[in-house]
Amino acid sequence: MLNIWSTEAWALSIAAAVLALLGFISGNWFVASLITLGIYIAWLYLRLLKLEQWIRKGTRASEAYVDNGFVGIIIRQLRQQKKTHNQRKDRTKKILRRMKQNISALPDATVLLDDELRIEWCNDPARYLLNLRSPQDLGNKLKNIIRDPALLAYLEDPLERESIEIESPLDSNITIQVKKVSLDDKQSLLIARNISDQKQLQKSLKNFVANASHELRSPLTVIWGHLEMLEDEINISKSGQRSLQIAQHQAERMKELIEDLLLLSQVESYHLAPDEGDWVSISELKTNLIEALEKYDDRSRVHLEFPEHLLLRGINVEIHSICINLVENAIKYSTPDKPVAVKWFEKSNAEFVFSVEDQGPGIAQEEISKITNRYYRGRKSRAEASGSGLGLAIVQHAANKHGALFNIVSNPGKGSCFSVTFPSYRCFRDDLKIDTTVLTD
Ligand code: ADP
Repeated sequence: MLNIWSTEAWALSIAAAVLALLGFISGNWFVASLITLGIYIAWLYLRLLKLEQWIRKGTRASEAYVDNGFVGIIIRQLRQQKKTHNQRKDRTKKILRRMKQNISALPDATVLLDDELRIEWCNDPARYLLNLRSPQDLGNKLKNIIRDPALLAYLEDPLERESIEIESPLDSNITIQVKKVSLDDKQSLLIARNISDQKQLQKSLKNFVANASHELRSPLTVIWGHLEMLEDEINISKSGQRSLQIAQHQAERMKELIEDLLLLSQVESYHLAPDEGDWVSISELKTNLIEALEKYDDRSRVHLEFPEHLLLRGINVEIHSICINLVENAIKYSTPDKPVAVKWFEKSNAEFVFSVEDQGPGIAQEEISKITNRYYRGRKSRAEASGSGLGLAIVQHAANKHGALFNIVSNPGKGSCFSVTFPSYRCFRDDLKIDTTVLTD
């Protein structure tokens, strides 16, 4: 600091000496002052001009010039700042390079998108999973390269869904799972993974279960027949009769399990087209339901409210299964003193809802998402041994297959309401009348 001011003090002293000299020689101090001041200002202006040119050229260290005054200090400060900035830039570049190398080494395709879904960056696996090439595709909109409507709807959906499954744009035999992760308002990361092997394995497993269940049906029918024949025998001891009852009960359970497994594999097989399926009469459905509930001693607490002239387009056995599973669960999981309300009703948009409401123990919020998984069994029902954990999985898949929405609302300790909303294109009403029935013992 001292050095600068000594340089500036020298410059002022020289200016004073010039002023004195010119003043003595000319005798006109005013003109002498003007000339000295002009020379001093021109010298300062020249230094600032050089500084401005140096900054404009990019403050290169090799082009910096020597100035021992305050301009020199500015130059030194700027050079120091540039050095620190360059060091930081190098460090960030190194981190970025390492990150890119690491992300490129990932087996999953990773794509960085801006807020208009333009590709900012992508790694190598993005080439063989999503057909994106770097650097050729950088800056292009993703929708111009991958024209999958499901993917675009998922990317533009403000409600961030978990992930979606799509076909690879390069090979329709490859299924990829795509997940979007928002980094901030402006950028998001798309992660795509090849899940064809998992899909294949799932398919093989499903086929195996369906085939095994199918193969088990015939021997079981034979066992069942022989058990019935034995029942008619008169010479069976008391303990023999007991064993026979147990064997019949277990065979019955096995039959139900096999039927559930077969129904589940049938329900999962494909999606129904809107005009596919038979016209199923809701009145007939009610008759079947009443018949199926005959085995329950406490069936009188079931209150049915079914429309009379409603037809539903779909698969009869699957719609029946939706009804019976939900009503049986309501009976199984609530005590005999609590009513069960079973209703079909129309919504304002011509959709029809099937709902079953009980006053049972209810389901904890965190359990609701799990109970539709196959084989999931939570709370024990009153009929301890019954239940395969497949009932709600069948309901969920049957609803999906019919384009219906399966919804569960539960209040632990108070009860649950299970509802399936069928789209209007599946419902046909012909002068509706509501029939209310309370089952008798
Ligand atoms: P299962 O009844 O054979 O166990 P489900 O798939 O029908 O299988 O049901 C799965 C689980 O959901 C049950 O084990 C039970 O914990 C829960 N659940 C189903 N319906 C009800 C209900 N109405 N009230 C309380 N819990 C229920």
